[in-house]
Amino acid sequence: MNPLTSGPFYQNTMKIVEDAGRLINLNPNALERLRFPRRAIVVNVPVKMDDGRLKIFTGYRVQHNQMLGPFKGGIRYHQNVDLSEVAALAALMTFKNSLLGLPLGGGKGGVQVDPTLLSRNELEELTRRFTAEISPFIGPDKDIPAPDVGTDSQTMAWMLDTYSTDTGYSQTGVVTGKPIEIGGSLGRDSATGLGVVYVIEKAVQIINLKMTEARIAIQGFGKVGMHAAIEAYALGARVVAVSDISGGIYNEKGLNIPDLVRYVKENKVVKDFPGTQHISNSEILELPVDVLAPCALEGVITEKNAHEIKAKIIVEGANGPTTRPADEILHKNGVIVCPDILANGGGVVVSYFEWVQDIVWLFWTEEEVRNKLREIMYKAFDKVYAFSQKSEVNMRTAAMGSSLERLQRAMMLRGSAW
Ligand code: GLU
Repeated sequence: MNPLTSGPFYQNTMKIVEDAGRLINLNPNALERLRFPRRAIVVNVPVKMDDGRLKIFTGYRVQHNQMLGPFKGGIRYHQNVDLSEVAALAALMTFKNSLLGLPLGGGKGGVQVDPTLLSRNELEELTRRFTAEISPFIGPDKDIPAPDVGTDSQTMAWMLDTYSTDTGYSQTGVVTGKPIEIGGSLGRDSATGLGVVYVIEKAVQIINLKMTEARIAIQGFGKVGMHAAIEAYALGARVVAVSDISGGIYNEKGLNIPDLVRYVKENKVVKDFPGTQHISNSEILELPVDVLAPCALEGVITEKNAHEIKAKIIVEGANGPTTRPADEILHKNGVIVCPDILANGGGVVVSYFEWVQDIVWLFWTEEEVRNKLREIMYKAFDKVYAFSQKSEVNMRTAAMGSSLERLQRAMMLRGSAW
């Protein structure tokens, strides 16, 4: 059994590749290559804990494919991280970056740790040592990490500093999603959430709904969900529910998002935000809304709850939130699912902008970043929607088909498939 490819999340992803591959007559050699990650690095990272103990944390970097450019993808800190999850997430990055037209391949990393249980010192030591262990395999021209679940711009600052110390000079382009002061891009923090909203804007047009009429529920109020809520609210949409680890809050008239953001800054969680009804993290998925945006973790929409979903549109801010059996149920019920590799692509698009700005040492205004991001997201949406209409398939198969067409061309040209 191959530990990289045998997990259900990886298998699920490969089934989508096979479906879309059949549709576009994917070259069998290209399919065989894409079914396996190129390389996986497993490291055991020692950390001196605040109480004096030594604790080992296992970390991973999986480099899936580099046909289009250097490996690119985030680093996740979460207690459930394992090799096969990271491999699946790395594969999704290959397909996402191809779909979005970026000159980047796909990779992903992670450490099995609950970051909320570590002190700042412990987190810094973990990050620095993890970076040192994977440092021979990353670099601005090789593999460029970024934030993901459980990591942020501070994590990236430590990674940049450790990598630069190891190599002997400052290399800001080794990571993206870093603080502005040390080479980050304006607009990177909000990019994934903003991209989700650009996709919502396009998707509601399909069902003839205006943004100002749309009722939206967002699962997750972290880096993706919170910014999606802010941007949707700014466009006049009604964000009726959001959730985080404390559960969900609901008000059918809509939440005041700027007030909620201030509330969460003070109270850390959305729970008990005045004027709202408490709901659970599974109830939020079943609300009577127009748009549901799962923006937390994978595997939350399954065959158990897919029948209960009332939203007409699902926009996947998270990677892999819908299982394959659930996807089939949603498709039968006429729910339009805008898949992860399209819907949450805003993050890596602005990571690409950041990487480019670091190479030329010329930085863009936030307006430039947002305009360029909008252009790429709208174009990707239109391409996927046109593909789905022409081939009479759902948006997930269409997005993968479109992504595979570009990858296949690159592989044939480079001689990786024949
Ligand atoms: N972690 C994000 C994702 O899943 C961003 C990756 C990046 O910016 O490289 O797409």
